[in-house]
Amino acid sequence: MQELLTHPVVSGLLVMTLVGVLAYKAGFLDISGMISAFLVGFVVWYTGGPPAFTILLFFFFTSGLATKFKYKAKAKQGLAQEGRGRRSFRNVLASGIIPLFFSVAWYITRTYPSLGIDPFWMFGGFVGAVATTAADTLASEIGVFSKAKPRLITNLRRKVPRGTIGAVSLLGEAVAAAAGLAIGIIAVVFALFSSGTEWGSVPVANAAQFMFIIPLAILTGFIGCNLDSLIGAIAQNRFVCEICGAITDREFHCSYETKYVGGFKRFTNVHVNLGSSTMGATLGIVLGAGLFVWILGGLFFWIAASSSS
Ligand SMILES: [Zn+2]
Repeated sequence: MQELLTHPVVSGLLVMTLVGVLAYKAGFLDISGMISAFLVGFVVWYTGGPPAFTILLFFFFTSGLATKFKYKAKAKQGLAQEGRGRRSFRNVLASGIIPLFFSVAWYITRTYPSLGIDPFWMFGGFVGAVATTAADTLASEIGVFSKAKPRLITNLRRKVPRGTIGAVSLLGEAVAAAAGLAIGIIAVVFALFSSGTEWGSVPVANAAQFMFIIPLAILTGFIGCNLDSLIGAIAQNRFVCEICGAITDREFHCSYETKYVGGFKRFTNVHVNLGSSTMGATLGIVLGAGLFVWILGGLFFWIAASSSS
């Protein structure tokens, strides 16, 4: 009986059902969002095990709660998610598909060591993708409460209205770093209990990799979140509200239709999120492969060489 319950498929179905009921009661997702979250969650549980799933769950619940946080106040200013904050399958796939990909890659690289790819790199990709998405969502949902007016990431001297695409604030930046830190701590706690290539372990092979986990999570969250703002500011389809002057991705604002002002017509927030989480994952692999030691080392020698001449 115990053997049956601890089989990844059975435990996965039990955990997904429990989480699904909680998420539905909390009103985080609509039906299409529920079904896709169930599928993404199950595959991540089966491939990356409880560490990967818990990291994804952290993102899921904190962003769900942050979206609901002071929802009415945000809705009044046109800053809230549509659909009473219930996200659909588009949101779930935009934030879940890259982590899913790296969870599967992590599974493949640890199941087939003959491939010669360190599973820790794929784990870095997974952490990088989730940290980016979590940092971006939390920074946007909480950053709008910044007392100081946000600034535009492509022109930091310019103050812009809250909710503007590409708007950044100190509060948002702090939240982004904190989100990365939280994910790093979750991964480290799992690594302390179990590291290696078994199901349910964090694929840490040595002390250096263990020490890399938290910096990797903070850096990918922070940099990935800012890349998201940057891609959004440059390429995202944007509209101006002729009532309040806000630049938004909404076709309606202040209960009137908005006017298209720039960006690529079909490039929406979903594409921005996909782009930034892919970059966050790439950065995670680079950091996970220890390349930043070489980058920092190279930089150090370059500075030392140029200052001595
Ligand atoms: Zn408006």
